[in-house]
Amino acid sequence: MWVTLFVTIFWCAVVFGGKYLYRSWRRKYYLLPAHSVNEIANVDYYRQLSNAQFESLVLATLKERGYTLLGEPWLGRTKEQGYAWRKGKKSVICYRLTRPLNEQQLVEISKKAHLVQAHSVLVLSPLAQVPKSAPIGLKILGGNKLVRWFSVLDMVPPVATHGVEEKCECGSLLKERVSRAGQPLLVCSMYPDCRVMRQPAEPAAPTLRIEPGSNALIA
Ligand SMILES: [Zn+2]
Repeated sequence: MWVTLFVTIFWCAVVFGGKYLYRSWRRKYYLLPAHSVNEIANVDYYRQLSNAQFESLVLATLKERGYTLLGEPWLGRTKEQGYAWRKGKKSVICYRLTRPLNEQQLVEISKKAHLVQAHSVLVLSPLAQVPKSAPIGLKILGGNKLVRWFSVLDMVPPVATHGVEEKCECGSLLKERVSRAGQPLLVCSMYPDCRVMRQPAEPAAPTLRIEPGSNALIA
């Protein structure tokens, strides 16, 4: 009787204690600044980028993944369509940063790609939910798939997107970095002498980003 009780309590302690330790380790791990894009574990990060920032990451990833860029690979942007070329196949790229893609849009993308004689289209959608089925030739990269696609960028530092300026308790400036969870993170500029690290205070109201001249496919 006592032995059973003891064994039960022991295993409860192991299981719950283990979970607690794992969770607190995880919290600490993801709060650390990411030194390069491949350390960012959350697709939400990519939605905070501007189109230009996102595109430069995409181009760097294509090169890392062995594509040769022939002109501008963005579908339908330039009069003469460019391609991302690999192993004799021509791909074009299409993305939507903030809004989800629907199936009708995928059909339109497929038609356009057919017109420019691309073999395949990479459709990038930095949201957790992406359409499950796609027309033939479309490869949808969203959620964790997109995080893995960008994971070849092990030398590219993430860009801070919020532009916040706050002071540390020690009087020095806090520098903006990006955490591994993809969130803005303020790190004291006197690091490692001062180890203050915190998330910036929430802005008073969300600001709407409007970029002139962006076409309908680029959200
Ligand atoms: Zn400090």
